[in-house]
Amino acid sequence: MRPRWQLYQGIYIHIPFCVHKCCYCDFASYQIQSPQVMEAYTRRLVEEIRAYEPDLPLSPTATIYFGGGTPSVLPPELLAQIVQALKDRGFWQQPAEATLEANPGTVTLESLRAYRQLGFDRLSMGIQSFQPGELALMGRIHTAEEAAEAVQLAREAGFARISGDLIYGYPTQTLAGVQDSLQKLIATGVDHISVYGLTVEEGTQLERQLAKGQLSLPPDEAVDAMYDYLMDALPQAGYQRYEIANFAWPGQESLHNQVYWHYLPYMAFGCGACRFNGKRRETSPAGIREYIEGKPLEVETLTPEIRREELVFMSLRTRQGLNLTEFQERKGTAFFPFYETAWEECQSRGWLEQEGDNIHLTPQGMRFGNLAFETFLTVPPEAKKEKNI
Ligand code: SF4
Repeated sequence: MRPRWQLYQGIYIHIPFCVHKCCYCDFASYQIQSPQVMEAYTRRLVEEIRAYEPDLPLSPTATIYFGGGTPSVLPPELLAQIVQALKDRGFWQQPAEATLEANPGTVTLESLRAYRQLGFDRLSMGIQSFQPGELALMGRIHTAEEAAEAVQLAREAGFARISGDLIYGYPTQTLAGVQDSLQKLIATGVDHISVYGLTVEEGTQLERQLAKGQLSLPPDEAVDAMYDYLMDALPQAGYQRYEIANFAWPGQESLHNQVYWHYLPYMAFGCGACRFNGKRRETSPAGIREYIEGKPLEVETLTPEIRREELVFMSLRTRQGLNLTEFQERKGTAFFPFYETAWEECQSRGWLEQEGDNIHLTPQGMRFGNLAFETFLTVPPEAKKEKNI
């Protein structure tokens, strides 16, 4: 039997449409709701799924994830065509999990029931905040009340597994606001919570607002206090941290995201979608028009050194960390002699520890995740990729 890293373990489908572009967002997402464009995009996506010849076998329990953009903007009948294409190809067998990302401002009881009937069993709701002023400033299309109501409707429609996201560190945000948002999100009864520290991405409206001095970021001490609060309050409420930014009730961790963090192969379809077979990444053009026109994928062949490094970084994002036996099996070399210096440095700073056959970040290491990862960098940036298009 093939080991898990030689099978496709997940399938990602990208739906790039949004009702409104949020100020902080740099995803391949576009403020488009034209039925013609959505239909043309769905046709192309179905074509891509039908034509794709996988170079590795697919695990029968491979997870499914429809992300975006806002998949819940696509009418259920178009979503159904994509699901059918996956089923026809044998790509949707008995998925261990089938998640749909949804924006609370775009769902109704009827649409949520339709998603359940299509076979989705998990919803990931982009909520971000329960403070009206913050939601407006972020450019979100829903109110705090609509967010709470969407979770209740999802439950009524039969979704037992629901995740909610929050952002912290946004301009005007205060510790009291973050505390209130988290308590309101917990009160909805979601079983999974992601908390993201704001990153100001290039080319976003937020970046321009900050550059013009229209907004300013909260001071570092305030952001640190928000982080400390979240890291204490989530476990106290029963959500266990299983990745740097992700918390879940026991057993409700996202299986699909763990495919990425354990550096396992996954297929991906749609504009801007990136697939990975363990050695190579292939990324579709980010623009909807380029994608519909069938412009070529960007192919990135990863050197063995890069793959080794990425396996370490990605695994260390998780609470479970890196399994040393699996590292040796996948890379043909033992971890310790190879990364001895980095290991010693991280240990002396209290960032990493060993538990049985796994090494993982400590809570302090998770706080300084990127600095800890830097100590493992052995490959100079210019040697990282051999790109060919
Ligand atoms: S809804 Fe999500 S994908 Fe769409 S613009 Fe907002 S953050 Fe980006």
